[in-house]
Amino acid sequence: MTSAAEGAGFATMWRELAAVGRHAGTGGYRRYAWTPADADCREWFRAQAEDRGLAYETDRNGNQWAWLGDPAAGDAVVTGSHLDSVPDGGAFDGPLGVVSSFAALDELRGRGARPRRPLAVVNFVDEEGARFGVACVGSRLTAGRLAPQDARDLVDADGVSLARAMEKAGRDPAAIGPDPERLARIGAFVELHVEQGRALDLLGRPVGVASAIWPHGRWRFDFRGEANHAGTTRLVDRRDPMLTYATTVLAARKKARLAGALATFGKVAVEPGGVNAIASRVRGWLDSRAADEETLAEVVAAIEHAARERGARDGVEVSVVRESFTPVVEFAHDLRDRLAALLGAGSPAPVLPTGAGHDAGILSAAVPTAMLFVRNPTGVSHSPAESAAEDDCLAGVSALADVLEGLACR
Ligand SMILES: [Zn+2]
Repeated sequence: MTSAAEGAGFATMWRELAAVGRHAGTGGYRRYAWTPADADCREWFRAQAEDRGLAYETDRNGNQWAWLGDPAAGDAVVTGSHLDSVPDGGAFDGPLGVVSSFAALDELRGRGARPRRPLAVVNFVDEEGARFGVACVGSRLTAGRLAPQDARDLVDADGVSLARAMEKAGRDPAAIGPDPERLARIGAFVELHVEQGRALDLLGRPVGVASAIWPHGRWRFDFRGEANHAGTTRLVDRRDPMLTYATTVLAARKKARLAGALATFGKVAVEPGGVNAIASRVRGWLDSRAADEETLAEVVAAIEHAARERGARDGVEVSVVRESFTPVVEFAHDLRDRLAALLGAGSPAPVLPTGAGHDAGILSAAVPTAMLFVRNPTGVSHSPAESAAEDDCLAGVSALADVLEGLACR
């Protein structure tokens, strides 16, 4: 049960954060790593820690921690998420997890629960990668999955390096790097996150548990044809890569649908890009995700096959380069099942996969990790239309408190 006082605590925190980094024109959030809006979010986090008498610290990579109990005791139960956003993002992706973490600690205290393990709330820096193009920088550095020099050399759209941005924000970029001792002190990490889809809404449940993060990747398709005059070149004489590209986009949709996977061409570049010119080259970027790596490989292979087949008919050369790949993340089964049971009075909480990446996915290789999802009735994410009802948010807080109590207090 959530008491009125705890509900008010959530609402107050939510209100305090609501204006930070919000763009007046779009209503979306622009909280990019190491900007003034990010600094305001970080200051808010520090104040929440201090208001509660939690021990506050920032680690070498800039992630923020608020500790209840002695971190050195080990086997800590950590919860949290991120406060940064995508360009014109919604209010919930990230902040819901951080605000709910503080509210869940408050609820535990209200219940008189006595943790036997250290508890912490974390804010991972630069999860979205909106400014420097790499997602989960804070957790990747900590887990040793991003080389410090590669991180320092990342640049934003204005040519400002991550190293310089950290310096401007008062951080030491020379200090960044793996933090195995910190990870070794964590016995479990639980990230609460707004659902980025409609599965919970369709099930009629406010809170669910993550089973896995789908494997996903990005592929660049290059279609090379021949530039020519749009007004004088007969159709039969053309080598138009736009046709091959268009057919490939349609094929991607069909192959994904047949396989129960996802495939999206969300970015395209055309050369020379004249209205009255047949293109010489089209580049399209495919994002594809599926429940398992074998299905994903099959879908991408089928799309590539369709592209080459059509390319042969159009006189267009097709080449495909995989630009990135993230393997499947299976969250720790025992922790996942324990969470589902802890949350289900009578009927266990639904267990569902997600197609979106998270800090929890990065940490899962080093630490037993789980995720809770809160219902998002629109299913929309990375947009101001992202939403969650206050009752569902409070149900998420209670669920997280149940999980923390179950893990740390028994
Ligand atoms: Zn997120």
